[in-house]
Amino acid sequence: MDLEKFAANAARKKKSLSKFLDQLDELLPPDLQEIVDKADAKVWAETDCTTCANCCKTMTPTFSKRDITRIAAHLNMTVREFRDQWLYKEKESGDWVNTTQPCQFLADNNMCSIYEVRPADCAEFPHHNKQPFDDYNAMYKTNMMHCPATLLLVYKVKKAVQREYEWPE
Ligand code: SF4
Ligand code: SF4
Repeated sequence: MDLEKFAANAARKKKSLSKFLDQLDELLPPDLQEIVDKADAKVWAETDCTTCANCCKTMTPTFSKRDITRIAAHLNMTVREFRDQWLYKEKESGDWVNTTQPCQFLADNNMCSIYEVRPADCAEFPHHNKQPFDDYNAMYKTNMMHCPATLLLVYKVKKAVQREYEWPE
C-alpha cells in the first residue's frame, strides 16, 4: 500500500465524499444497506491490511476498562502500570487512549503484537458493519482520511447510488 498516494487521493476526494455522506442525512436510498454490503465485499477483495496498518500508525483506539485489564494481564503488568506507561485519559470524552502514535503495539511487519488481546475498538475497525450506515456518517468522514478501505467503501457506495438513482451532484 502506497500511503502517500492514499493521503493525496483522500485529500482529493474529501470534499465530494463528505458531501455525499451529508446528503444521506436527507436522502436515503431504500436499498442502501444492500449497496453497502456489495461494495464492502469488493473493498476487501482489493484491500490487504498487512501492507497498510495506517490505522495503527495514525489513529488511536479507545481502550475500555475490560481491554486494559485484559491487555495488562497479558503483559504481566498491573492496570496502573499499563496506563502510566502508554495511555492518557482524554478530557472531553473521558476515554483512555494512546499517548503516542504509531501505536506501541505495532510491530515492524505491520502486525499487531497483542493481536489476540487487542482492544475491541481495533478488532471492530474500520466499523463497516455498523448499521444503519447513515447513522455513522461523521465517523466515516473522519476514518476515510486514515483508512484506505473506508475511503474505497464510501467511493464505491457513492458511485453505486449515483448509478441507481437521480442523485444531486
Ligand atoms: S493495539 Fe494493535 S491493532 Fe490496535 S492500534 Fe495498536 S497495533 Fe493496531
Ligand atoms: S483497517 Fe484500514 S487503515 Fe487499517 S490496515 Fe486495514 S485498510 Fe489500513
